[in-house]
Amino acid sequence: MAEFLELRNISKFYGNIIALTGVSTTVNPGEVTCVLGDNGAGKSTFIKILAGVHQHDEGQLLLQGEEVKFNSPREALSYGIATVYQDLAMVPLMSVWRNFFLGQEPQKGIWPIRRIDIDKAKHIAKEEMAKMGIDIRDTEQSVGTLSGGERQSVAIARASYFGAKVLILDEPTSALGVKQSGVVLKRIVEARNQGLAVIFITHNPNHAYPVGDRFVILNRGRSLGNWSKSELSQAELTQLMAGGAELEALQHELAQAG
Ligand code: ADP
Repeated sequence: MAEFLELRNISKFYGNIIALTGVSTTVNPGEVTCVLGDNGAGKSTFIKILAGVHQHDEGQLLLQGEEVKFNSPREALSYGIATVYQDLAMVPLMSVWRNFFLGQEPQKGIWPIRRIDIDKAKHIAKEEMAKMGIDIRDTEQSVGTLSGGERQSVAIARASYFGAKVLILDEPTSALGVKQSGVVLKRIVEARNQGLAVIFITHNPNHAYPVGDRFVILNRGRSLGNWSKSELSQAELTQLMAGGAELEALQHELAQAG
C-alpha cells in the first residue's frame, strides 16, 4: 500500500542558498515522524513546503501515491495537512472555547437572527479536549491563563477537530520546561493513537525519541538520514544531533579564525 505522504529527495533553494536538499521520509496515520535539526538546519523550510507556503524545487511529494505540489496553505489544508505554529495563532484574552473555534463557531437560529450557539460551542470544545486527555474545567477561562503545555494542547485538539489528518507541530516543546514538555508529548501520543499522522519538529532528541516512530535529521539543509525507530537507538540519535551541533560550532569558529 502507498504511504500516506512521501517525500522523495525534496530540495528547496532560495537563490543560491540551499535551504533543503535530498530530504526523504514518510508520514503515515498512527505514526509520529520526527524532524530534528539545529538552527538553520532547514526545519522551517520543511514545514513551509508541506504547509503549502513554499513549493519545493526538486524531488517529489506524493500523497497516497499521487504526486502533488501544494500551491497555498489552503490547498495543503484541503488535503488535511494542518500546521500548529509556535505562536499558536491564539488570542490570550479570549476564552478557551472562542479560541477553539475562532470564527468557525456553530450557529443557531434562522437568518436574520442567527447567532453563535455558545452552549454547543463550549460543549464541543470541552469534549474534544477531553478526547485528547485535557481536562479544562471551565472553557470560559481565558487562554492567557493556561500553561504553555495546555495552550499547545488546545491548538492540537482544535486542528484534530477541524479535520486534520496530518498534524505538523512546529517546535511545540522548545519554550517549555520539563513538566510542560511532558504534557505536550502526551498529547502527541494521544493524537497518534487517534490515528493522526504527526510530524514533530524539534531540536531535542530526548523529546523526539520516546514518541517518535521515524526520524529525519537535518543539518545545514542536508538530510543526515531517515530512520525508523528500530534502526536507530536513542544514543545514536543523540550522538547524531550532538555531532551535527559540534561540527557547526567548529566550522563557525574556523570561519572566524580564518
Ligand atoms: P530552521 O528552521 O531549521 O532554523 P530554516 O528552514 O529557517 O532553518 O533555514 C534553512 C536555511 O535556509 C538557512 O540557511 C536560512 O538562512 C535559509 N533561508 C530560510 N528562509 C530563507 C529565505 N526566505 N531566503 C533566503 N534564505 C532563507
